[in-house]
Amino acid sequence: MAEKRDYYEVLGVARNADEEEIKKAYRQAALKFHPDRNKDDKDAERKFKEAAEAYEVLHDAEKRAAYDRFGHQAFAGAGGGGGPQFNNVEDIFSAFADVFGDGMFGGMFGGRQRGPRKGRDLKIQLELTLEEIDSGVRRKIALRRQEGCKACAGSGAKPGTKAATCTTCAGRGQVHRSQGFFTMAAPCPRCRGTGSVIESPCTSCKGVGHESKTAEVELEIPAGVEDGMRLRVNGVGDAGDQGAPPGDLYVAIAEKEHRIFQRSVADLLTEIPFSFGQLALGDKVEVPTLRGKAEMVIPAGTQSGKVFRLRGQGLPHLEGRGRGDQMVRVFIDVPGKLTDRQKELLREFERIELEKSGKKSFFDRVVERFK
Ligand SMILES: [Zn+2]
Ligand SMILES: [Zn+2]
Repeated sequence: MAEKRDYYEVLGVARNADEEEIKKAYRQAALKFHPDRNKDDKDAERKFKEAAEAYEVLHDAEKRAAYDRFGHQAFAGAGGGGGPQFNNVEDIFSAFADVFGDGMFGGMFGGRQRGPRKGRDLKIQLELTLEEIDSGVRRKIALRRQEGCKACAGSGAKPGTKAATCTTCAGRGQVHRSQGFFTMAAPCPRCRGTGSVIESPCTSCKGVGHESKTAEVELEIPAGVEDGMRLRVNGVGDAGDQGAPPGDLYVAIAEKEHRIFQRSVADLLTEIPFSFGQLALGDKVEVPTLRGKAEMVIPAGTQSGKVFRLRGQGLPHLEGRGRGDQMVRVFIDVPGKLTDRQKELLREFERIELEKSGKKSFFDRVVERFK
């Protein structure tokens, strides 16, 4: 593979260039090397992609900082290719819609749709405790969204009137414009791509067809969801144009930290302190679980740090049956203060241990353990 060029050099900007300069430089490079202007020119196509890659990194403050510190190495981890990879020209435009603005190139690749538009998708975040994740939960939320106007049934036209076919685009919703080398299909400016215009707008929604309302939505979250998961609730987003479906609602799950448990997929991890006597002599104890408590048997001679598995005391698997386990790591809780009597007994205990080992020094005993 050819040596990668410096991203600043690719865009022809200084290393301290601000966001606007980078955006401007990229837009110029993209127009210059655009495949439509450079038919069958492999070199131009390569430069076009190279500029997109440079922009992808430099317009993102975090990626740019990483690049400034580590160069192309910053992105070498994933697959070794380094930097973002764009497969084709359409990829590039969908990634940088903000640079090219509305309508620019839109019609060229057939990506833009005419006619009534689907409602916007909405996103919310939902914080859940481990207990709620364990049981699954129903939650009522207040959702601010666009709903169809009741007065005009979403048409935007004053009740009793109808929308008329747009004369600018003859109802097609698109107009063609030449700009430099390009012929662009852009949404019709008069009817905003809908193909029809409203001559007497509905007074309630001012012709828009929908209005902002707060709706109470009940969400049903299945048991076993994980932090960072996104659940889609179909048709609960903003209302679409008349005749188009509403958008969806995306619910991002955020897991609240738990006082006792850490989570690893469906398993729960916890650390519990025991006295030296409990571990040395063995004990039967009750330990906390997410749903209450469970009995745990500590065999005599248990080492500090040993992990016990309580089967089925973890979280439910999101898909499929059963639950994960609870892992309990035991450790010795050394008492901070001892009475004289306790000290006496412990010294006695140490003396006996020493005799058992044939009066070997502490050092020798340590070495022996690692043999
Ligand atoms: Zn029109
Ligand atoms: Zn209305």
